[in-house]
Amino acid sequence: MGEKPYFILPFPGKAVKRGAGAGHYSLNPVPDALSGRLVLKAKVLRPLSVYGGINGPVRAGQREGIGLLQLTCYRNQKGKAVERVVLPGSSFKGLLRTVVESISLSCLGALKPALRNYLDPQLELLRCREGERRVCPACRLFGTQDYAARVQVRDVFLDPAVLAVKSTPPLWAPARGRGLPQVYLANRNRAKGRKFYLHSQVTGAGEYRTAIKEGTGFTLEIYFYGLSRPELGLLAAALGVHPRYRFLLKMGAAKPVGWGAIELSPERLELCGNVAESGRMGAGLREVTGPALEGFLQEAVAGALDGGLIEEASLEKLSRDLAPGTLNSPPVSLPY
Ligand SMILES: [Zn+2]
Repeated sequence: MGEKPYFILPFPGKAVKRGAGAGHYSLNPVPDALSGRLVLKAKVLRPLSVYGGINGPVRAGQREGIGLLQLTCYRNQKGKAVERVVLPGSSFKGLLRTVVESISLSCLGALKPALRNYLDPQLELLRCREGERRVCPACRLFGTQDYAARVQVRDVFLDPAVLAVKSTPPLWAPARGRGLPQVYLANRNRAKGRKFYLHSQVTGAGEYRTAIKEGTGFTLEIYFYGLSRPELGLLAAALGVHPRYRFLLKMGAAKPVGWGAIELSPERLELCGNVAESGRMGAGLREVTGPALEGFLQEAVAGALDGGLIEEASLEKLSRDLAPGTLNSPPVSLPY
C-alpha cells in the first residue's frame, strides 16, 4: 500500500476538559471579555470548490459534459438578480471547529453514531450534551445544544469570473462500508485521532467540477462575542496565522488530490468597547492593525498555551504537517 494523502492527528491522551458554559445569557460572561470582528485576507492556493449538491453542464476546452458545480446563488443588485459564487460562513465555521477541537481538549462535534464504539471512554470525547453544565473549549466557542455560538463567520460572495472548470479523478466517500478501517485504529480497536488531508500538487482527471481558481483573493470576516483573550488565541491558532505555528487550511471538495488549500493573513481586528462599563452606546471601536495586530494575536496564543487551552504538541504537529512548504509535495497515486 502506498502513501496516504492524509495523516492522523492523535488524540492528546487526556480527557476532554469541560468547564462552565458561556454565551447563553450574556455577551460579556467573563471580565475583560472581547467582542468584535477579525478581518482576514484569504488566498486560494489550490482549486477550491464547495459543492452545493447540484450537477450541471460544464465546458472544458472542446469537451462538454455534466460536472459538479460550485455553490452559487442569486442576489438582488439594483433590482436585478445577479449570480454570485458562495463560500458559506458555516463551511468555514465547521472547518475552524474541527481545527479547534483537534488542538484543544474538546469533544468530537461531528461524530457518526456508528463510530462511537471506537472511542476510548476515558477520553470522554462524545459531544457535550444538553443538561450538562460543563462544556469543552470548542463547544464554548462554536456552541452546542443550549449554548449559543460565540464565533460566527460571514458568508463570502464572489464574482462568477473566479470560477473555472477543473478535473479530478473520481472520488469516493472515505471509510465507505462498515466501521473504521484498520489504519485509524490503535490498540483494542480504539480510534487513534482525527484525520486531516495533506497538501500536495493537484492530480488526476476524469470528473469535471467548477472551482474557484488558484490565486483568487477574498476577505473573511469572523465575528466573536465575549471571548476571553486565551479563547481568541485558540481561535487565532486554529486559523494557522501564528508565525511559529503557521499552516494552510484545507476546505471543500477533492482534498485527497490536492484541492482546497487556503492561506489566511490577519488584516484588522476591531474590538467593541465594554458595554457594561460604558453604557449602551459602548466606548467606541478599537482598531488593531499591522505589527500591533500580530503582537496582539501572538500574546493571545501565548495565553492559550500557558492556560492549557491549546495542546501544544497537537498544534505543532498540525502546523508541521500542513505547513505552507508542503503545498508542492508530490501527489499520491491511486487509490485515494
Ligand atoms: Zn464539546
